[in-house]
Amino acid sequence: MMSIKLEQPKSILIVGGGTAGWMAATSFLAAWGENTQITLIESDDIGIIGVGEGSTPYLKQYFSNLNIEEKEWMAACDATYKAGITFPRWSTIKGYESYFHPFFSQFDLKPAEMFFHNSGLRRRGYQADVHPENYFVSSQLVQQKLAPIPDSSIPFDVDYGYHFDSGKLGHFLKTRAKNLGLKHVVDHVQSIVTTAHGEVDHIVSRNSGILNADLYIDCTGFSSLILDKALKVPFQSFNKSLFNNAAIAIPSPALAPDAIAPHTVSTALSNGWAWEIPLTSRVGNGYVYSNDFQSADNAELELRQKLNLVDADVEARHLKMKVGRVEHHWYKNCLGVGLSQGFIEPLEATALMLIQFTLEKFIKRVNSGADTLNEQQHYNQEINATFDGVKDYIVAHYKLNTRTDSQYWHACREDIIISNTLAELIETWDNGEDFERVLTKYKQELVYLRPSWYCILSGMGRFPGSAKTNNQAGPTQQAIAYCEKMAKQYFVSHHSQLSTIHA
Ligand code: FAD
Repeated sequence: MMSIKLEQPKSILIVGGGTAGWMAATSFLAAWGENTQITLIESDDIGIIGVGEGSTPYLKQYFSNLNIEEKEWMAACDATYKAGITFPRWSTIKGYESYFHPFFSQFDLKPAEMFFHNSGLRRRGYQADVHPENYFVSSQLVQQKLAPIPDSSIPFDVDYGYHFDSGKLGHFLKTRAKNLGLKHVVDHVQSIVTTAHGEVDHIVSRNSGILNADLYIDCTGFSSLILDKALKVPFQSFNKSLFNNAAIAIPSPALAPDAIAPHTVSTALSNGWAWEIPLTSRVGNGYVYSNDFQSADNAELELRQKLNLVDADVEARHLKMKVGRVEHHWYKNCLGVGLSQGFIEPLEATALMLIQFTLEKFIKRVNSGADTLNEQQHYNQEINATFDGVKDYIVAHYKLNTRTDSQYWHACREDIIISNTLAELIETWDNGEDFERVLTKYKQELVYLRPSWYCILSGMGRFPGSAKTNNQAGPTQQAIAYCEKMAKQYFVSHHSQLSTIHA
């Protein structure tokens, strides 16, 4: 077969104007804006999903690559900082009813080693403190309501993410993209016409007629108009591993500015879990659940009860979720970005990270000028591995739950299919065998690294029941005191940092 070298496309047509569409637009403008005609078409009939308000630390890099200051975008999006996620009620084991999954920094190097050491002892049946919140500075940032930005005397970066209004983020990126020369078309795509070779030939829109380009970007959300409907790229459902397929979103009033702690709270409920995301303008709340176990009405009632909004005149948005991924994210002359390429439920807020990763890797590969077919194949393997790696960590939350209050939680523990990698990680942990060896063995495929695995397994109390005393456990009080001290010494209050950003 003849090899065709990759080259920068002369024209790109992005279909869809949700967060994925606008992130794609800004990324392509930054990479190729000078010589590529970039157009985005979005329907005036179909809205955006309009949720997606938390990020991982990776998003920081997206804005810094585009030279966008926090003060600029955070102020426009009612954004707050995020130092990690608190998980109440996933475990019912006494003393482990809630745990914290921190974002990390070099501050944590020493106390985290003590945490790993103590977890190892506890796994082998000895007493030791193994609560992740005692060994990471970001836990103290949450407890003391400090912003995760160290003072300038610190010579290293601290990982942190954000909370933001997703509609406003889309609007912010749209304005920027239009100012940079993007052609914006508001029109409904009626059909996608393919060539005899199975590529996209052109799309037909209701008012603007035929539109075509060298490269098509499918950002049409769960409908996946190009990749799924037109090009028939196979979709691999994750519904045997992740049962949640619906969500409800209900906002509640903003917290007082000095009451905003920099974390997402993800609380397990009867048939799923609820997110709580503090913005400066409101709190975003939602319930992600399985419609096979709980009706939409009951789920709404349960969320309203949790929020004390049973009789409040506030609208609940009901959403369906399609959980899984396509087999080829880049197929023929189309790249899928966002919900159109896949979604792994929002438990660790990874969707924008996957969008960013999809875009960055794609641009890099095209710029390499390598052979198209090889690059496409390697690229798809890379993106699939990343989706699957994220999936393993999300699935672990369900597999490790110890709730007994509903059939749902029982099924999440007993009936889900887990990957061999996850099975080996859990088995090794349970048997008290060499956990570090398995972490090293799967280093290439684990998206979540060593601290995250220790946090979830220890945080949920996955240990043998009784524990013998010993004198080898690391001194927990010393770790707590160190984290408290670092937090107080090097970080300012979240409130004052937000006041500066939103001034
Ligand atoms: P959408 O927002 O659905 O946009 C689709 C676009 O396609 C729209 O502009 C629509 O007009 C257009 N379109 C569709 N059909 C046509 C047509 N025929 N013609 C023209 N245009 C068309 N992500 C995170 O990172 N963090 C989170 O905390 C998080 N929480 C989430 C919670 C829930 C319950 C859900 C469901 C998702 C969450 N996500 C989260 C994911 C996040 O919301 C999405 O990844 C993100 O918003 C991108 O969506 P999108 O742009 O792919 O799709």
